[in-house]
Amino acid sequence: MRSIQAQRLTCLPPYLFAELDRRRKEVAARGVDVIDLGIGDPDLPTPAPVVEALIEAVRDPSTHRYPSYQGMREFREAAARYMKDRFGVTLDPETEICTLIGSKEGLAHAALAMIEVDDPVLIPSPGYPVYRIGTIFAGGRPVIMPLRAENGFLPDFSAILVDTAARASVLYLNYPNNPTGAVADEAFFRRAIDFAETHDLTVLHDAAYADVCFDGYRAPSILQIPGAMSRAAEFHSLSKTFNMTGWRLGFVAGNAEIVGAVGRIKTNVDSGVFNAIQRAGIAAFALPQTAKDEIVSVYRRRRDLVLAGLRKAGFTVFDLHATFYVWFPVPGGDSREFCTRLLEETGVVITPGIGFGEAGEGYARIALCQPEDRLAAAMDRILRH
Ligand code: PMP
Repeated sequence: MRSIQAQRLTCLPPYLFAELDRRRKEVAARGVDVIDLGIGDPDLPTPAPVVEALIEAVRDPSTHRYPSYQGMREFREAAARYMKDRFGVTLDPETEICTLIGSKEGLAHAALAMIEVDDPVLIPSPGYPVYRIGTIFAGGRPVIMPLRAENGFLPDFSAILVDTAARASVLYLNYPNNPTGAVADEAFFRRAIDFAETHDLTVLHDAAYADVCFDGYRAPSILQIPGAMSRAAEFHSLSKTFNMTGWRLGFVAGNAEIVGAVGRIKTNVDSGVFNAIQRAGIAAFALPQTAKDEIVSVYRRRRDLVLAGLRKAGFTVFDLHATFYVWFPVPGGDSREFCTRLLEETGVVITPGIGFGEAGEGYARIALCQPEDRLAAAMDRILRH
């Protein structure tokens, strides 16, 4: 009998969190107060001026019609101003920026726009799963670039076989990084662009956490690097910076051919982002720096609390200057076993590193998306465990 589902769905990696989810429910059903540090979804509300801007925009019937596929001109202009003010990168809002239904949508659609069937595609592991799955949907072949602690969780381009690099079409990168919390400096981005130039690769850089930075650290944009505009695009998100995960708003910026190609997929698949949401996005970009600093300082305090708690409990932790994820080696090295045991014995949910790819094995991830008292309670349980 013909399979109802397309073959490409059967090629997807198994959903590794399903088992942990089932156990979480079981533990909660026993009456345990489960503390979920698994999900990277900000618990704080979207800033009020953004909510107000949406309410006003939604009352204006002109927002009720189809949006333009590439996004409202005013939103793209606001995104271009942000890229200029924040990174010193000058972009043409007409051709070098496209509004996205969240950066995830753009990252997945970019794969369809850039990857030919059987193309090797360079993908960081551990990593956000969309790079790999988008590649599989496009018929490409994921080639894993392991991110190792001894390299600061940056890929080692010299370890990639020249033959593979020569045949590859796309290089995915993500800094500040989920799940490792690692950051990349301009020198790394320069090496990435050099490597991409040598092997004629298109670079898709996921910058979803570009503004979740602490201690005076400011993440650079890959588009700052000379030559990047010829072959790179960067995916930005309003989700994390402004507590807007549910709104679905982001943008892709960079090389006009890449941005245009993503736009062409979107023209044929979705019909863009609700104009009222884009107007709210313009209000988010216009928030004073103090409002943005306030959001980040919440994560900084939580980070301090969790790093201190883990150290006290005897875990090795890395410096963390960006993102809201704490990535640490688990005793015994079996991340699924460790996370399952932790849940069973303490009621604390954290994510096994293997869920982010094979090179994530041996680690686990804590998301700082719970209030300080809950994080403190979780650390206390881990310490007493
Ligand atoms: N990239 C990374 C690394 C992420 O962690 C996420 C969300 N978890 C996204 C992209 C997607 O963000 P959004 O679609 O909400 O913009």
